Amino acid sequence: MFRKVLIANRGEIALRIHRACQEMGIRTVAVHSTADATAMHVRLADESVCIGPPPAKESYLNIPAILSAASITGADAIHPGYGFLSENAEFAAIVEAHGIAFIGPSAAHIRMMGDKIEAKRTMARLGVPLVPGSDGPVESLAEAEAIARRIGYPVLFKAAAGGGGRGMKVARNAGELAEAFALARAEAKAAFGNDAVYLEKYLDRPRHIELQVLADHHGNVVHFGERDCSLQRRHQKLVEEAGSPVLSPGERDRLGRIVTEALREIGYRNAGTLEFLWQDGQFAFIEMNTRLQVEHPVTEMICGVDLVREQIRLAAGAVLGYAQEDIRFHGHAIECRITAEDPDSFTPTPGRVTTYHPPGGLGVRVDSALYSGYTVPPYYDSLVAKLIVHGPDRATALARLKRALAEFVIDGIATTLPLHRRIVEDPEFAAGDYTIHWLERFVRRTAAPLAA
Ligand code: ADP
Repeated sequence: MFRKVLIANRGEIALRIHRACQEMGIRTVAVHSTADATAMHVRLADESVCIGPPPAKESYLNIPAILSAASITGADAIHPGYGFLSENAEFAAIVEAHGIAFIGPSAAHIRMMGDKIEAKRTMARLGVPLVPGSDGPVESLAEAEAIARRIGYPVLFKAAAGGGGRGMKVARNAGELAEAFALARAEAKAAFGNDAVYLEKYLDRPRHIELQVLADHHGNVVHFGERDCSLQRRHQKLVEEAGSPVLSPGERDRLGRIVTEALREIGYRNAGTLEFLWQDGQFAFIEMNTRLQVEHPVTEMICGVDLVREQIRLAAGAVLGYAQEDIRFHGHAIECRITAEDPDSFTPTPGRVTTYHPPGGLGVRVDSALYSGYTVPPYYDSLVAKLIVHGPDRATALARLKRALAEFVIDGIATTLPLHRRIVEDPEFAAGDYTIHWLERFVRRTAAPLAA
């Protein structure tokens, strides 16, 4: 087992990884920018190293600085968390070339799934159902027209190197195709330095359902059931549930079998998530994330598993040690992502948190790096807390969520807490009756009018 893990991240996820290491008797090294010198992950870690100035490019994305920190402190493994370098195949390869374990899949698998066109081709070959679309990158408008005619409007252009919902543009009819194509390419080029885009049928009322998977280095692959992440704004998740309010155990098993067989076939290792759109009882693969996900706690709550501990164990070469039949699902869990953003306009609201009082009680978990007196810096992602509730059934989980949201105090800066309080009161949400388009309509319907 590893003796010392360097955590190449910040915020709540750095803390989450530190906690798993502590419980395993593994020492931790925090890295931080100058803006994060007083951050909670730095305070709690056994050692810390400043790796650069505030901009992420010069600190949390600075590969030479992170490798130097690992070498100075004698870390024998690096956990990348999510975001930042977590899906950078080159980083994974360099870490391993330095004799340090990368807590995640192989560089080859990160590269394969990071190219969304290649990921779809691989999954199609392995018998995983896909959203209808182009077989590869769309090179010309004429080609886009031909494909759109075949699959039918509306269609969606997506960036091959995509992530974070960027580079996606819808064309509702032939007249909108040229502009959507040009915009998607430009956005993809600006965001990822790669203007390759592909085309998919744009589904009008799907749910986003994803499957959590773990694989060891010895050919064992299991899944931990699904998460329903349909509550999204601008293709970014806000609320996640496990299990999905609409999926039957039979459908979960069927999808689980297809996915675990596919990953066994390609020799995948460590944690991964396959994302699907689900509509009219049909699953369609959209992408695979080769890392721990923000919403992993809802799975942990219903499966009673520590996914970060498992990632660390598997990266050290351990055998999984349990079979699919051993994984049981207990009750229901819901997570709210609370961000430092205005709850109506979503403009970021960095600043000093004067009072921080998280909720507690049975079935309530808060993953956050906030504390009273902490200043949220303006340089990074605006996620400041994840509120996760668990109960024996969805109704109990929902009651706990309402109660916990009412208790939660974050003063000094505006956060999206009021939005979450509105969502949980909504009858459609309470009934589990929503698609990926529900939240944006809800926000438009309920947001306070902007001050003149
Ligand atoms: P990213 O990697 O940028 O997050 P994804 O492929 O994961 O992109 O898609 C993000 C979200 O965009 C999905 O969860 C879904 O809400 C929406 N989306 C993606 N593909 C489609 C599609 N073909 N039809 C409708 N919505 C889609």
